[in-house]
Amino acid sequence: MNAASSTLSIAAQPEPSPTVAQFLRRAPRLLIGGEWVESRSPRTLPAIDPATGRTVATLADAGQADVDRAVAAAREAFEKGPWPDMLPAQREALLWRLSDLIEKHADELAEIESIDNGKTKFMASIVDVPGARNYFRYMAGWATKIEGSTLQTSFGGIPGAKFHTYVSREPVGVVAQIVPWNFPLAMAAWKIGPALAAGCTCVLKPAEQTSLSALRLGELIIEAGFPPGVVNILTGLGESAGAALVAHPGVDKIAFTGSTEVGKIINKAATDTLKRVSLELGGKSPVIVLPDADPAAVIGGAANAIFFNSGQVCCAGSRLFVHRKLYDRVLEGISAAAESLQLGPGLHPKTQLGPLVSRDQQERVLAYIDSGRTQGASVVTGGESVGHEGYYVKPTVLANVNPDMRVVREEIFGPVLVAQRFDDLDDIAAFANDTPYGLAASIWSNDLKAVHRLAPKIKAGTVWVNCHNVLDPNLPFGGYKQSGIGREHGRAAIDLYTEMKSVCIAV
Ligand code: ADP
Repeated sequence: MNAASSTLSIAAQPEPSPTVAQFLRRAPRLLIGGEWVESRSPRTLPAIDPATGRTVATLADAGQADVDRAVAAAREAFEKGPWPDMLPAQREALLWRLSDLIEKHADELAEIESIDNGKTKFMASIVDVPGARNYFRYMAGWATKIEGSTLQTSFGGIPGAKFHTYVSREPVGVVAQIVPWNFPLAMAAWKIGPALAAGCTCVLKPAEQTSLSALRLGELIIEAGFPPGVVNILTGLGESAGAALVAHPGVDKIAFTGSTEVGKIINKAATDTLKRVSLELGGKSPVIVLPDADPAAVIGGAANAIFFNSGQVCCAGSRLFVHRKLYDRVLEGISAAAESLQLGPGLHPKTQLGPLVSRDQQERVLAYIDSGRTQGASVVTGGESVGHEGYYVKPTVLANVNPDMRVVREEIFGPVLVAQRFDDLDDIAAFANDTPYGLAASIWSNDLKAVHRLAPKIKAGTVWVNCHNVLDPNLPFGGYKQSGIGREHGRAAIDLYTEMKSVCIAV
């Protein structure tokens, strides 16, 4: 790796609490059919603390036999037993019980998430854990509100015949849910919540880098009283356990969040069995600053749009477009904000920004910064790793970039902002849309007309105005173009987990 490295010292990672230390010592295991079982595969995976690079726990690496068992358990639970006979209000009550258990164990879950992912425990305790709790609560409400419609046939077909017709929604069946490492617990909630509200059963595969909070969630799912097999959890590698789930004929639907590259592999692999597929993929979201914007609000907002969670956010505001009137001031402000962030291990109380999730990710991000330098970008701030251990990358701002550079075109998934200046409002939609992605965008302006003219021209699933990264369980989220297929949250999420059935009765 050529990238520069600073030896600036980083604080030591504090010891975990006794409760979490005990959790980390648990033997590798999988949740199948309501029980914690050993994997049939002898392979294991390390759970690594990104602040130290040390192994903190050992995970099972599920193989084909485990996938077969988990899918069979989910199928059994879907077809027989108490789950399909449960009233919607009973599913609602179980989801609420789970959310209450998340609240009860919030501190422990935040600590686990911090140790496993690198984010600060503080951030996990104000974003990830309450986000998961709220998501289950929100989706609990949907269990009792799934509805169909009645309608009239238009032509009838048979002269004189009359029909009574209605359309109902039924759970799609056994769903395989594959989630990434940036918000492990929250992503598990985004997947499991609507699936259970709709009456499906699940096999969840967390990312191999961050499986610990899913395992703790599995314990809480058992404690909440879900029937056996309704939620199964397999830790394991994407290319083996993940791919086996995608190919499995017993799975009705795949729900995936992760890279566009893997999303394409999954979409192709699901073709043979024509599984339902929903994909929430990568992004290269523009942050567009119009000339009338309030610079102070923009500086704080745009810095947060890219540096929150160290830029490991699918909708991170990674391409900044600022009108020339404000460009210098905004760039200076964001760079100062980047330099003021205290890097350190997630459990340290003074840390504001943790390490990246893994050595691979650190190397990938540094290689992107190097490619930017090589292609002529200038590093306004950051641009290097920090410390002797742990996977730190300084928050970085690159200027003098052009649309052909890899740092402008490709998703970096790290704390790296590329800043560009624009002169004419008429050009900005084309600049913003010059990307294969279309997940999100933000517009910063109080000019009502300009905002309403621009928002419809942006090809993205979400357009924020004077804010960024605002996600809500009730607000549909997903991508245009190569950022995905389908929308999560709200009614749209229930649609993903249900099949429509038309019933036509000759009367
Ligand atoms: P990233 O590139 O950010 O690590 P990925 O898209 O590789 O994200 O991973 C997201 C999730 O997809 C993880 O749970 C990973 O194990 C899983 N995964 C990776 N490759 C495959 C695959 N070929 N089939 C199914 N799942 C996969």
